[in-house]
Formats: sequence, structure tokens, C-alpha cells
Amino acid sequence: MPKPKVGFYDLTGCQGCLLSVIFNENEILDMLSKIDVKEFRFIMDEKYSGKLDVCFVEGTVVNKEDEKVLGKLRERSKILVALGACACHGNIPALRNFADEKKLDYLKYEKKHEQMQDMEKPMPIAKFVNVDYSIPGCPPDRDEIKKFIKEILLGKEFRNYSDPVCRECRLFENGCLIDDGQICLGPLTKGGCHAVCTTNGFKCYGCRGVTDDANFEGYFRLLEEKGKTDVQIKKHMETFAGIEINEKLKDTEWQQLH
Ligand code: SF4
Ligand code: SF4
Ligand code: SF4
Repeated sequence: MPKPKVGFYDLTGCQGCLLSVIFNENEILDMLSKIDVKEFRFIMDEKYSGKLDVCFVEGTVVNKEDEKVLGKLRERSKILVALGACACHGNIPALRNFADEKKLDYLKYEKKHEQMQDMEKPMPIAKFVNVDYSIPGCPPDRDEIKKFIKEILLGKEFRNYSDPVCRECRLFENGCLIDDGQICLGPLTKGGCHAVCTTNGFKCYGCRGVTDDANFEGYFRLLEEKGKTDVQIKKHMETFAGIEINEKLKDTEWQQLH
């Protein structure tokens, strides 16, 4: 049986997601013996323009060029995978959607950067093409990438972790940052990251996206009891998954908060 043809590509991102693939250094040679990697610029010079069985795409669509590249990748691929928070949720590049337009005009003028003249509203890749699977996170968890590749090779359906970060955080017996009066997005965010931030004393910023049954109302109430304002909470929530959260909270007072 021929090995599946696999490609790793990036739009606008920092390439940390692609690095997470390579961080599987102990297993990567095994993986490479089972899949036919046609393009992956970190580890090979070759370019490939043929059909792919599985195409991993890192990064956000920020301009027409990204959109064009993504469209062509979709046409060529049986399975297209959004790799990382930028591709899945827009992430930091999408913060521009919530920024003051005047400041952006200033940046465009000062930098006179060719690509910045072509700025669109940055969006996750699912806004442009059909996405078969998502591996969220900034960066995505390297074990999850490995698990995904193994399951796809076995012809299985890959399922994302769907419980909130709090579940894993509690399993590690961490103290709760919300109890300490901090804004932590663990209750609203899909886990699967082993609560890596909170276990190391950092707040969760929601890089893996929002749980299906997120209780925004209860969350706001809880943080307001801790003295946090709606605007403070909103700023925190917009960092990684702002587009998704804005969609879930459309037609609510959330839209008017600045
Ligand atoms: S998701 Fe994070 S690690 Fe991946 S490209 Fe975006 S900023 Fe970089
Ligand atoms: S620190 Fe954050 S992730 Fe951990 S239990 Fe508290 S709210 Fe949940
Ligand atoms: S704890 Fe939150 S911000 Fe940190 S990796 Fe997990 S989902 Fe992302």
C-alpha cells in the first residue's frame, strides 16, 4: 500500500506549530517511515504541487495571498487539518479585528509594507475553506499531533478533547487562580493541553477555543464577584479566541463593551 502523501504548510503565523511537529524528535523518524512527506520547509528543500492525502496548515488568513494559497491547498488535499490556534481561531493575528482602526492606519503609513496594504480582517482558515480536523493550541500539544497522525494512519476518526481546562488543572491539584482574583479562562476553554499554563502559575488565555457548553453568564458573574469589570474580562477573552467568542456572544451586551 502506498504511503499517504502529507504536506505541512504555513500561512501567517510564527511557525511554532510546525516546530511542535518537529519536537516529536523521538518518534519523527518512525513517522517519516510511514508517511510520505512531500513538503515541510523546516526539514526539506523540495517543493510539491501535486495531490495530498493529508495537508496540515498553520497560521491565520490575513490577506489575499494567504487566501489564495489556502484555496489551492484545499483543492489539492483529501484531508485538510487546521494546525494550531492561528489556523483554528485566528489567535493573536486576529486581535486586529478588535483594535482601534486609527492606530492601524498609522502602522500602515509608517511601515509602508507591501503586504500591509493588502490587509484583510484576519480570520481562521475555516472562514474560507472546509476544514476536516482541527488541532488547536498555541502551540499545539506535540503529543496530540502525534496521536492525530497515528489515528489517521489507522483510518480512525480523530476526536478532540472537549472537557474544560479546569478538569485537567484540578487533576494536577493546582490552586485556582480565579480564587486568587485573577482572570483565568480555564472554565470556558477546551482542555487537552494538560493545563500547562495554570500548572506553571500562568493564567489560561483560552488558546484551545471555547467548550461547546461554555457558561458565559456564570463565568462573568463569578469574575464580577471577584471585582473584575466586563471590559477587563473581554480584553482577556479576545486574546486567542476572540472571533469565536464574539460569534457566540453576538446580539448580547458584550458587543458594546470597549
Ligand atoms: S498558533 Fe501560536 S505557535 Fe502556532 S503559529 Fe500561531 S502564534 Fe505561532
Ligand atoms: S486555575 Fe484556571 S484552569 Fe485551574 S481550576 Fe482555576 S479557573 Fe480552572
Ligand atoms: S492552559 Fe489555556 S492558554 Fe494554556 S495551553 Fe491550555 S488552553 Fe492554552
